[in-house]
Amino acid sequence: MNTDDHNSSHLTFNPELLQQLEYDIEVIESDNVASQQARKLVISPEYRMNTVQFRRDKDTLLTIPIADVVEILSVSDISGRFGRERNSVIRLAFYTERSIIFDVKNKKFVNVIEQQIKLLKDAERNQSLQKAILTTIYPQLCNRCLENILTFEFRSIGKVCLSCFEKEYGRMLLQTEANKEHEVIYTYYGGHKDHNLSKKSRSKRALPGNMYLTENYFIFAKEDEDFAKRWEIVIPLKSVLSNWSLEEEARRSYVEWEGTSIGNFAFGSSFIRTQNKIVRIGVPYVDNDGNFQEPEFIFTSPISARVWAAELYKHVAKAKTTISEEGLVFGNRSDIKNNNAIIQTTANCFNCGREFEIYNLVVCHHCVTSFCDICIGNHSTKAKFGIYTKYLGGHKLYPKSVDTWVYFYSDRIEIPMIHLRVPYTTMSNIENADEKNITAKRLFLVGMLAFGWKKKDVYTIIEYLDGFNQKQVLVFDFREHIQDAQQMIYDRMLASHFARDKLLEGAALEDNATKTQKSVGSHVSELPEINKPRHNDNDNDDPLHILKIRFAKGEISKEEYEEMRKLLE
Ligand SMILES: [Zn+2]
Ligand SMILES: [Zn+2]
Ligand SMILES: [Zn+2]
Repeated sequence: MNTDDHNSSHLTFNPELLQQLEYDIEVIESDNVASQQARKLVISPEYRMNTVQFRRDKDTLLTIPIADVVEILSVSDISGRFGRERNSVIRLAFYTERSIIFDVKNKKFVNVIEQQIKLLKDAERNQSLQKAILTTIYPQLCNRCLENILTFEFRSIGKVCLSCFEKEYGRMLLQTEANKEHEVIYTYYGGHKDHNLSKKSRSKRALPGNMYLTENYFIFAKEDEDFAKRWEIVIPLKSVLSNWSLEEEARRSYVEWEGTSIGNFAFGSSFIRTQNKIVRIGVPYVDNDGNFQEPEFIFTSPISARVWAAELYKHVAKAKTTISEEGLVFGNRSDIKNNNAIIQTTANCFNCGREFEIYNLVVCHHCVTSFCDICIGNHSTKAKFGIYTKYLGGHKLYPKSVDTWVYFYSDRIEIPMIHLRVPYTTMSNIENADEKNITAKRLFLVGMLAFGWKKKDVYTIIEYLDGFNQKQVLVFDFREHIQDAQQMIYDRMLASHFARDKLLEGAALEDNATKTQKSVGSHVSELPEINKPRHNDNDNDDPLHILKIRFAKGEISKEEYEEMRKLLE
C-alpha cells in the first residue's frame, strides 16, 4: 500500500470538523416517546455502522443509523414554526422513525452537526473516506481493521495492530522492546544497499530501531519520531542465505563444553559476528530484485543476540525445508545446491537425546543448547549445590588431575574447570573405585600417581557416553562428601533414565501410530544397564520403592522426595 492513498483521502474533508461529536440539545418533537427525554446528541462514527444517538445522561434512548437518515433540515428552513427563541432547530427525517426535531443549545454547532451527518452519510458509500474519518477521530486505531488499538507504526504497512501485523507477516516469535527512556540497544549496522551507512554513523550506532521475527519474516524497523523518516527492511526467511557448512563450523567452535554434541549446540551461530565486544547479527539474503543484501544489526546484549540467532536459524531451516518440499526455486541453482542440500533440519535434545525437527526444539538462552519441550522443563540454570573436590582424571581429553567445583543441577553435573557437563541420562555407572578396580578398568590416572595412592582412599568412578558416542570415565575424590555426592548422582541417574525411557517409549508408540511423526526416538544410542554404586545394597530395584525407603529413613527431605517422585512417575 502506498502512503499517498492515505493522504488523498484525508484531504477530502477538514479534520477539524470532527473535533466535537457531542452536543447538548432539547427535543421538541419526536415520534419516538423514549427520545423525547434526550438531552444529548452524539454523532458516532464506527467501523461497522455510523450512527446518531439520542441520550439522557448515560442512557442511550434512540440510535439511528446514519444510512437511514433521509433528510436533515436546519433552522433556516423550519425555524418559523417554533418562534423566535428557537433559532437553532434541526429536523432529522429518517426511514424508520418519521422524524425528530430538536433544539441545539449552542447555536454555533448547528452547521457543524449538519456537515458531520452529511459527511458520515458520504462515508457510508466510500470506504477510504470512512477509514480516514475513523483514523482522524481515533489516531490510536489500527488502520487496517479499524477495530483494535494500533501496536506498530510501520512506514511500509502503516499503523497496525498485532493481529493485522500477523496476518501480513505470520505469527510473531520475537520482538525487541521499544524503550525510549533507556538506551536503545538495537541498531542497524549497514550492509543493505538501499540503506547505506557512512563509517561515521556506523561507529556512532546512529540508526536505532526495532526487530521482529515472525514465522515468515525478519524485520528491522528504523525508529524515528518523524514518521516520514522511518523505513523497514523486510526479509522473507525463505530468501535468507545461510552457509550451512559454515554454520556447522561455527557451532563446533561454540561447543565450549566438550563432550556434548554439536547436534544440540548454538544454532544460528553463523549469523553472529563479534568484533570489539560488539555482537552483531548478519542476515544475508537475496531481495525481490535478485540483489544480494547483507544487513547487520547490533545487539548490546550477547544473550539476546544468541536467542535471535537461534530462533532465526530454526525458522530459516523450516522455511527452506518447506521450499524444498514444494520444489520451489529461488536465487540461482548453485545456491540451492550449496545451501539446501546440506541443511541440518533435525537436532537432538541435550537431555533425552531424542531427535526433532529443529524448529520444534527449545534453545536454552543461557547455554545455547537445544532441548525438547519436555526436557527443557527439567533444565535449570541454577545449581542445586556444589562440592569442592578433586578430579583425578579418566576422561580421554582431560587426563590431568585438578581441584575443582562439581555442580549438581536437576538434569546434569557440571565441572567448569575442565569444561564438562554431563546429563544424568548419559551416565551408565557410578561406583566406588579402589586400586583394584581402577587397575581392572585400565584407567591411567596421572593425578593419583602424583599425590600417591593410599589404601584407605575411596574414589568415585562415573561412566557416561559423551555427545560423540565416546565412552568416558570420570574419577573424583569427593572426600567427606562421597556418600552425598554418590547418592545424589545415583538417584538422579536412576530417575532420569526412567523418565527418558518413558519418553522413548512414548515416541516409539507415536512412531507406530503415525508414519508422519517427525521425532526420531529410535536414533538414540543404546545405553548400557545402570549399575548401582557398591555401598547401596538394596535388593529391590524399583526406583519408587528405593525412594520411599530413603524418605522413610529420613535420608532425603520431603521436597527432594516429591521432586524425585514426580520425575519417576
Ligand atoms: Zn488491525
Ligand atoms: Zn528431551
Ligand atoms: Zn541452559
